[in-house]
Amino acid sequence: MTTAVVWFRKCLRIHDNAVLSWACESDEVDSVLPVFIMNEEIGAEGDNKFGFNRTRFLVESLRDLSDSLERELGLKLMILKGAYLETIDTLIDSLEDDAFLAYEYCSEPEILLLSVEINDLGSSGRTAFRSRAFPASHTLLDIEKTVRSPTYSNPKSMKDMERIFRNQFGTNEIGFYDIKDPLPVPEIGKPMAELKSLHNEIEISYLEDYLLSQYPERMGKDQYFHGGEGEALERLARKVTARPAYVNNFRKPKTYSTNLQEDPREPSTTGLSPYLSTGCLSIRKIWKECEKSYLSGEHSQPPESLHGQMMFREMFYLLSRSVINWDKSTGNENCKEINWDDFDRSKMESWESGMTGYPFIDAMMRQLDETGWMHHLGRHAVSCFLTRGQLWQSWTRGRDVFERKLVDSDWAINNGNWLWLAGVAPFSMPYYRVYNPCPDSKSSLNVETELAEFVRHWVPELKDFPSRYIFEPHLAPLPIQISSGCVIGKDYPLPIVDRKDSRKKNLARFKISLQN
Ligand SMILES: Cc1cc2nc3c(=O)[nH]c(=O)nc-3n(C[C@H](O)[C@H](O)[C@H](O)COP(=O)(O)OP(=O)(O)OC[C@H]3O[C@@H](n4cnc5c(N)ncnc54)[C@H](O)[C@@H]3O)c2cc1C
Repeated sequence: MTTAVVWFRKCLRIHDNAVLSWACESDEVDSVLPVFIMNEEIGAEGDNKFGFNRTRFLVESLRDLSDSLERELGLKLMILKGAYLETIDTLIDSLEDDAFLAYEYCSEPEILLLSVEINDLGSSGRTAFRSRAFPASHTLLDIEKTVRSPTYSNPKSMKDMERIFRNQFGTNEIGFYDIKDPLPVPEIGKPMAELKSLHNEIEISYLEDYLLSQYPERMGKDQYFHGGEGEALERLARKVTARPAYVNNFRKPKTYSTNLQEDPREPSTTGLSPYLSTGCLSIRKIWKECEKSYLSGEHSQPPESLHGQMMFREMFYLLSRSVINWDKSTGNENCKEINWDDFDRSKMESWESGMTGYPFIDAMMRQLDETGWMHHLGRHAVSCFLTRGQLWQSWTRGRDVFERKLVDSDWAINNGNWLWLAGVAPFSMPYYRVYNPCPDSKSSLNVETELAEFVRHWVPELKDFPSRYIFEPHLAPLPIQISSGCVIGKDYPLPIVDRKDSRKKNLARFKISLQN
């Protein structure tokens, strides 16, 4: 008798889940045990990587996964708390049947190392244990196979990605990359494995109680992005499937960084990144939904199209696997070393809490804090401001804040984009193209400036300010500040740096760093 231990990691869903489908359908398997391991660092006190929204989103996704496993397949999700290897070791020992650990391949260095250690569990005299990592569960490409292919070299551009896609997938008769359709929810269930309860097993309600006790005031508030496969599929249907014209005309640089005018919390883009990062939504599923729209007529192309966005995602997954020290500022061949200033607590705190005195930057950072999300061009603006633009702090500091706060926090993508925006990577924009943190209607940051509802919503101190001054309010004459109910320097901060002086100084410093 063999029990398949289906280890859910970054595919918190039952659609297009190769591991689950295999376990439910394979003749090798007699019973199934779905497991999620709450690594010790998740939600730990003072933890650096999991802030409130990220943890909440994960817990909601687990609740949804647990419900759908039970409803659709009669299986119960077991949640175990502890270090990965030890937890797997104990779990395997407590099974009466032979165990087959099946899990999604993950390209992060620590997890790759763990895969080797997991294999060792099988070779250390445990004959009743086998394991298998399923490739291309979280990405379109089989990352391991692609980076090992003889034609592979690190991609720097969309042209490189198109070449890689052609090589790996080929094209079909209508000229689309020949990417497989997503798998349906498995039809055949298997009995749930028999297992005595384990000392480190926890209920989802324990995690929900934990959130309530740690963040009582935040849990009471209306949250914007909710975790779970159900939410993911609903958003996909509403934002993508139902809007072929939107999909076909999608040009990322033209989308508004300030969200929808009627709702400052709703993205002008799909807003699907949190669901892709947690795997509540399969990347293949959204890829194929876009293809359906593309069949209906003319459509935009990479890098601007929706497919283009997903190809950037694949690019960062490849690089994060092939570039050693991907998340480091030294010993990383994709990162020029720049002489950033030492950690400046005051600047970092002003930036993180949205109190820089630059309303556009502050609105973006407050949106991040409250909802866990920010538009791509907003991320451009705040990361440029923190690094080569104004504050001259290392990109790794901003990366850490994003990692903790984003509901779409993703190791490969977050590091890749910070490298890009700090101007230090081969695929970066030229370092001297610095965004103006006080954008006007012509800015490539695509800001709605006429009514400026986005700034009014997120920086309510300025809600009655005239649009003309709202992006640089300290320039408003004092009588206007008084009549708008916000005196700059008293009710809202003065700019923490002079944007023009700091830009000039930093450009010179960047140039010198490059020469060294
Ligand atoms: C400094 C910085 C940090 C970032 N950190 C993350 C992160 O941790 N996690 C994350 O998912 N994205 C990150 N991004 C990329 C991008 O901003 C988000 O993926 C995008 O804003 C998500 O919104 P959306 O789902 O509406 O995107 P859409 O425009 O609707 O795109 C669809 C999907 O394509 C992918 N995608 C889009 N843009 C990019 C990109 N530039 N790089 C890689 N994938 C992309 C995402 O999975 C996204 O959901 C970062 C960008 C910057 C500048």
